[in-house]
Amino acid sequence: MYLISNREMLLAAQREGYAVPAFNIHNMETIQVVAETAAAMSSPVILAGTPGTFSYAGTQYLISLCQEAARKNRIPLALHLDHHETLEDIGTKVRAGIRSVMIDASHFPLAENIEKVRDAVRLCHAFDASVEAELGRLGGQEDDLVVEEGDSFFTDPVVAKHFVESTRIDSLAVAIGSAHGLYQGTPKLDFRRLEQIRQLVDIPLVLHGASGIPDAMIHEAIALGICKVNVATELKIAFADAVKDYFSAYPDANDPRKYIVPGKLAMQKVVEDKIKVCGSAGRL
Ligand SMILES: [Zn+2]
Repeated sequence: MYLISNREMLLAAQREGYAVPAFNIHNMETIQVVAETAAAMSSPVILAGTPGTFSYAGTQYLISLCQEAARKNRIPLALHLDHHETLEDIGTKVRAGIRSVMIDASHFPLAENIEKVRDAVRLCHAFDASVEAELGRLGGQEDDLVVEEGDSFFTDPVVAKHFVESTRIDSLAVAIGSAHGLYQGTPKLDFRRLEQIRQLVDIPLVLHGASGIPDAMIHEAIALGICKVNVATELKIAFADAVKDYFSAYPDANDPRKYIVPGKLAMQKVVEDKIKVCGSAGRL
């Protein structure tokens, strides 16, 4: 079993008007939850790992775990490099077998962003790996990636067209008001801007920071061209809260085979919900 790129997955989603959820995973248990739920619901899914997750678990461990999850559940899986920043790091992981890549050079000025993304595209396409890049800058925090409110900015539709044509990326992460981490109050998405981007850019669009965005807004974003929806924070909170509850009920518990189970079940509910919201069930 090998790990696939997300190119065909996202193009199918774009054609048929749904989105593929990308779930951030960290270890064997979180990979099991996503793969088993995806298989049960016949949904395409992407397993995403930040650089922090890859250093924590080890690249080869994650690849082997995902390959086994794909084999055992008989589904194709894309293990995705989420917010990776250096060509060297991406090169090492693509050579190890990963075929789904995000290069995040969004903190550089446009010309430099384009140059770095182009280099990543050249490298990744030689391995038939898909490349996602970000234009604009999401606020909030994801692992070591912290962007202050004042440093975040929205994607400019005209620049997006130029960016996509210059880099030949496979998908574009847009900044339209979503943020990493938790929202204070209801998030506001700039749908008009998304529509304008869609009119000028024909590749699949990606929404980061979807934890906490109301379902109706996700639906609208998908109707306007979002084909990949990233979920991380909600999974972690559900998992951790359930494990905390277990320990308050059983303070002497020490068997990981027992105390991890409620965490997995709670995470599974979030994965099921997001697959439903994305409309990806039954699409495998
Ligand atoms: Zn992100």
